[in-house]
Amino acid sequence: MVDRVFTNCEVRPLSGDDPASAVAVTDGTVTAVGDPDELLTAGAETVDCRGGVLLPGFVDAHTHLDIVGRRAVEADLAGADGPDNCIDRLLAADDGEGWVLGFGYDESDWDGELLQAATLDRVSTDRPVAAAREDIHTVSVNHAALDTLDLPDDGVRTEDGAPTGVLVEEAAEAVFDAIAPDYTQTQEYLLAAQEVALSKGITAVHDMVRQSHAPRVYRDLDNEDTLSLRVRLNYWADHLDAIRELGLVTNHGSDRVQTGAIKAYIDGSLGAGTARLRTPYADSDSAGEWRTDPDALRELVSAVDDAGLQFAAHAIGDAAIDALLSAIESVNAADERHRVEHAEVLTGDLVERLAASPLVVSAQPNFHRWAAPGDLYDERLGERRGLTNRFRDLVDAGAQLAFGSDCMPLSPLYGAQQAVTAPEPSQRLTVGKALRAYTSGAAYAGFDEDRMGTVTPGSVADFAVLSASPWEVPNGKISDIDVTMTVSAGDIVFDSGD
Ligand SMILES: [Zn+2]
Repeated sequence: MVDRVFTNCEVRPLSGDDPASAVAVTDGTVTAVGDPDELLTAGAETVDCRGGVLLPGFVDAHTHLDIVGRRAVEADLAGADGPDNCIDRLLAADDGEGWVLGFGYDESDWDGELLQAATLDRVSTDRPVAAAREDIHTVSVNHAALDTLDLPDDGVRTEDGAPTGVLVEEAAEAVFDAIAPDYTQTQEYLLAAQEVALSKGITAVHDMVRQSHAPRVYRDLDNEDTLSLRVRLNYWADHLDAIRELGLVTNHGSDRVQTGAIKAYIDGSLGAGTARLRTPYADSDSAGEWRTDPDALRELVSAVDDAGLQFAAHAIGDAAIDALLSAIESVNAADERHRVEHAEVLTGDLVERLAASPLVVSAQPNFHRWAAPGDLYDERLGERRGLTNRFRDLVDAGAQLAFGSDCMPLSPLYGAQQAVTAPEPSQRLTVGKALRAYTSGAAYAGFDEDRMGTVTPGSVADFAVLSASPWEVPNGKISDIDVTMTVSAGDIVFDSGD
């Protein structure tokens, strides 16, 4: 007995099967894809998709939903056009007590100056103020915050011996420790983030969690049946001992919340000049930093692999990716689907080695927006700018490509737009390949390819309905398409009303 039939839509299954015009759903699972006449049976409810294009729900393989929630609840600094605009937004979001927080500024949107303490003092001189840069490896704070924080020596940027208020890496992490939300605050952030994700057509996320209440909040929401997303938890490596002790294993969990990988940083970011390169940056003598050096990495990979857990390694610079490949090649790890997160700078033979390895490349097409001539990557990398995020080369070489947003911003359609219009024309993906990396590709990274990522009988009834076809938008502006409806297990969990 069919529960629901989704009609008045163009179904693009992204499975290799032909487009259709209706989907039948029973008990949260797709039972048939075809046309309404053959699928509509007595007693089935009809869901009118208003002429939209129905795709499998997007799977975002790399999220930090706590950050998305913070942006939704605190000051959102994304898209701010300068320090004055950041100050306005921080003042508007100030609730009058404790920290004043803002997230997601990107100084490359204006003239390249990071926010300084003196600027943030305009928000408050007696209460601490923190504004996190989009990549969260850099945080700017005011003088009151500098006074209250217990900062490490590393990562505090100074000028003439005085701190500028710009904190990177470990010093930035000290800020995140100081503003860590409690359980109730975490729940507020994650519920706000869930609303944002559903409005973007996202039905599943691989969320990065570290010393937070998030895993508990997700499981409680799941028990209360208020979790509409499917969440795969990737735990930071500092949890590895506890995870082994508790017997958590990759892929174990419920329909909605599962244990994923162990996540670690090998290096930093290109924006902060801390991603580890084989040769120095174009704009400094430094070749970046190791967050986990090659020896420690080899030990970590073998410990995670021995525990039967999936490993997800943040590696951006070519030296970091090289070190990860060497560590993975040293354990015989064909079955665990270890992942490299970002894999941005792909010099020399790295594309071939990635394709030959069992590693899943979990990449972010959003990052193309810093790779155009004259932009941030050009400044940092010079000619190597052209070697960043080589998705076409990776796909052609046979690498497993999964797309995620890293929440910069959280939006698969924005990411797909970037992937089909990459600054290097040779690296552009077709619309179909871009969307597959954001559905079945990301599902594969979570061992979920039989369960989600296509609209196929037997897969979960998780859909994104779009206002227009990504294959037919004039000028390739996929990012202008609206998500009109999001469906999870056959239930409408977001409806734009148009
Ligand atoms: Zn991330």
